[in-house]
Amino acid sequence: REGRLRRLRRRPATTRDGERVALMANIELPEDVAAARDVGAEGVGLYRTEFLFMNRRDLPDEEEHYETYRQVLRELRGLPLTIRTLDLGADKQVDGRGAGDGAAPPNPALGLRAVRLCLREPGLFLPQVRAILRVAAEGPVRMMIPMLSSPRELAQVLALVDEARAALAAEGAAFDPHLPVGGMIEVPAAAVAAGFFARRLDFLSIGTNDLIQYTLAIDRVDDAVSHLYDPLHPAVLRLVHQTIAAGRRAGVPVALCGEMAGEPRYTRLLLGLGLRELSMHPTTLLEIKEVVAATEAAAAARIARRILRLADPDEIAALLGELNADLF
Ligand code: PEP
Ligand code: MG
Repeated sequence: REGRLRRLRRRPATTRDGERVALMANIELPEDVAAARDVGAEGVGLYRTEFLFMNRRDLPDEEEHYETYRQVLRELRGLPLTIRTLDLGADKQVDGRGAGDGAAPPNPALGLRAVRLCLREPGLFLPQVRAILRVAAEGPVRMMIPMLSSPRELAQVLALVDEARAALAAEGAAFDPHLPVGGMIEVPAAAVAAGFFARRLDFLSIGTNDLIQYTLAIDRVDDAVSHLYDPLHPAVLRLVHQTIAAGRRAGVPVALCGEMAGEPRYTRLLLGLGLRELSMHPTTLLEIKEVVAATEAAAAARIARRILRLADPDEIAALLGELNADLF
């Protein structure tokens, strides 16, 4: 089995009916690039940058951001790199920082996390944005904003990126003025209003880990409710579908980078819903590629349409079983 999967490394992911699918890697540390390349990932669809802030008292400055991203980009040898801006708070706490200083917030997952924290503390955000703009002059880099929930927030982010661009230009620094800026769709409000985000961004990526948490009101790190955490809940599937449709209408690519992307049981459903870019932990990539290669995209789309009409999670699971019948 291991050997069979290894042979897929250099082969592009293509369905039986010829649909190309980009399988990308999620990474958290520069060292993870080796694993991503080893399985033949087509690039990095999610680079979580929180590690830069972990286990230290001071903040990384622009140079540290820049040098770190530069190393990752160099090791990717021409493959595209999607850098997600800081997502601290909630399940990603660091000492003395994150969701405000001092007392723990009453509801960390609903508190000052990710882009909210970045907009509150530009001293945290601006050095990262400047470093990403600069490193993008050296290769295929995209910037991705986590936890967007309101249009106003997006406007603030884009204004801040404009400011950073103007400042770098004034300083005569090398940077990419056309850096693609994308957003994660991981809050139900953003999925419902996905059209708005799609029209103002260069790409979207669905973060199902948080989208499921917020849609179902299930804390993703609370074991007491983990049995209720259901990627197949009709509300979740409809939000994923709406986001894909909004991206298509706006002519903007939509990827999916939550854990769902690395679960072979969901691959056909995700392809059937219209996704053509999945980003996942490198260890799951070859198995997903094998499923893609064994999938008839047109048939998956027909069953996905039927699944979207169902309201009962058990019926959805049963139909998914039918879709995967030859696999497991
Ligand atoms: C997600 O929420 O699905 C996601 C990919 O981001 P993270 O797991 O880092 O919150
Ligand atoms: Mg998330």
